[in-house]
Amino acid sequence: MFLSLHFYALIRPLIHYGFHFILPFFIAWIFYKKRWKKVGLLMMATIIVDVDHLMASPVFDPNRCSINFHPLHTFYAIVVYFVFLFFPKTRIIGIGLLLHMFTDALDCLWL
Ligand SMILES: [Zn+2]
Repeated sequence: MFLSLHFYALIRPLIHYGFHFILPFFIAWIFYKKRWKKVGLLMMATIIVDVDHLMASPVFDPNRCSINFHPLHTFYAIVVYFVFLFFPKTRIIGIGLLLHMFTDALDCLWL
């Protein structure tokens, strides 16, 4: 709002990729202290849902809101990711995916 556009242009990708690549390890470290590296990697690996971007054209558009645009970023998909939380085997993946959606949703707010 009060900061220059250049500042946002710089900080936006930093926050976005920081949330995609660093926050999973931070969360893993808080909730899964004993195996934070493995859990963090697993959560970070959920970035693979971005394969759905390949179906869009252009594949990458920094000013596009991914949520409800790409098939794996729809509210229906997010409901499935939420259900993942209820099963121990899929819980970490679920957290990672929801974190991914949250990060992508943040980008929609800036637009
Ligand atoms: Zn995404």
